[in-house]
Amino acid sequence: MGFESLTEKLSAAFKKLKNKGKLTPADIKEAMREVKLALLGADVNIKVVKEFVARVSERAVGIEVLESLTPAQQVIKIVNEELCQMMGGSVSKIKVSSSPPTIVMMTGLQGAGKTTQTGKLAGLYKKQNKRPLLVACDVYRPAAIKQLQVVGEQVGVPVFAGEQGESPVSIAKRAVEHAKRHGNDFVFLDTAGRLHIDEVLIEELKNIKQAVNPTEILLVVDAMTGQDAVNAAAAFNEAIGIDGILLTKMDGDTRGGAALSVKHVTGKPIKFIGVGEKLSDIEEFHPDRMASRILGMGDVLTLIEKAQESFDEKKAAELEQKIRRETFDLTDFLDQLRQFKSMGSMDQVLSMLPGVNASQLSNAKIDEGALAKTEAMILSMTDRERLHPEIINGSRKQRIAAGSGTRVEDINRMLKQFEQSKKMLKQFSSMGAKRRPGRRGF
Ligand code: GDP
Repeated sequence: MGFESLTEKLSAAFKKLKNKGKLTPADIKEAMREVKLALLGADVNIKVVKEFVARVSERAVGIEVLESLTPAQQVIKIVNEELCQMMGGSVSKIKVSSSPPTIVMMTGLQGAGKTTQTGKLAGLYKKQNKRPLLVACDVYRPAAIKQLQVVGEQVGVPVFAGEQGESPVSIAKRAVEHAKRHGNDFVFLDTAGRLHIDEVLIEELKNIKQAVNPTEILLVVDAMTGQDAVNAAAAFNEAIGIDGILLTKMDGDTRGGAALSVKHVTGKPIKFIGVGEKLSDIEEFHPDRMASRILGMGDVLTLIEKAQESFDEKKAAELEQKIRRETFDLTDFLDQLRQFKSMGSMDQVLSMLPGVNASQLSNAKIDEGALAKTEAMILSMTDRERLHPEIINGSRKQRIAAGSGTRVEDINRMLKQFEQSKKMLKQFSSMGAKRRPGRRGF
């Protein structure tokens, strides 16, 4: 996830407030000057920055000293709330039609990631036990149809393609009829893109819109293009009227400008974000969670949801029992690591933890090969050792190291990690009991 530089600059601005018992207007002014520079540096729209800083300053000047929070913490809380507000406040979901199918028209400029995201979204709905249909309306690039067919196959969703020479409007109409006949409750139209917004493109989108009356028009924009993405969103919205935005490539080193400005500039919320090239790399957009990520406060809830999604539910329940009964052993640890691997890349997962930022990640050199090593070590143990790691003494360590092609230090490190994981899982498990997000529904 991008934003590292913004996160660092904001924490530097707040650090200066930390040791102050009471904040003077001058302290706040100075901090706000730095916040403003940080946001401008992140390519946030200037008008948005000005309004943001004015609102935060107004609220911050009047703050009382509370027992529970220091003045600096209160300023951070206000910034957090205002950042969240700036990105739309709460989650915006895709509208669902009361008479199926729900028709989602995907639009966007070429290269924004439209075809990929269309496939990802359909896959997401399939996981929710829906019956989506993908529709190839980009008839100008034969490769686009093929690309949609490939992603459709990967996510297990059928693709409706038109006949040679058929117009996008006719394809869209026939696809909706097809969906009705075949019980598809969601239809995702992958429309054509262009390098720039032009009359022909807009005309075609308007015609499709008129022909099928979509439930939702989503615009796919590339976060890496910063203010260009915001301008494109404003132009699309003006020309055809959009309902929401899917912001892609949030995994790249985007400075954050698009995510932070687009709602304010266009009035339309970000509904989903694309966070990687894999078809599972899509997330519902939560302004509050994004705000805390930006402030370096981590995003433990998304982490837990990801864990729940990729974990086998029965296994997860067993695991919870084991953690409760304190019988979590090395075999479970290995199981856990393997599941962790299926959640995404290590640094993607770690970046959601509070206090972990990109520079720390690169210093820590997350080595995915380490997982393979851990696997080898655990597989070289006897059943009793896996069940009772406390019996692993010096000579056992030497035997395991020799068996797994590792060193005794590696065994020590792994056992330490095992203990830490046990502790962390215990924390997660008690958090889960307090606030267990239900299965995700969109
Ligand atoms: P389209 O022309 O808008 O349909 O764009 P494509 O779907 O063909 O995507 C263009 C490129 O962006 C492809 O190489 C995709 O793999 C890549 N892409 C799409 N979404 C994401 C994302 O969320 N993150 C990253 N890193 N790459 C993405």
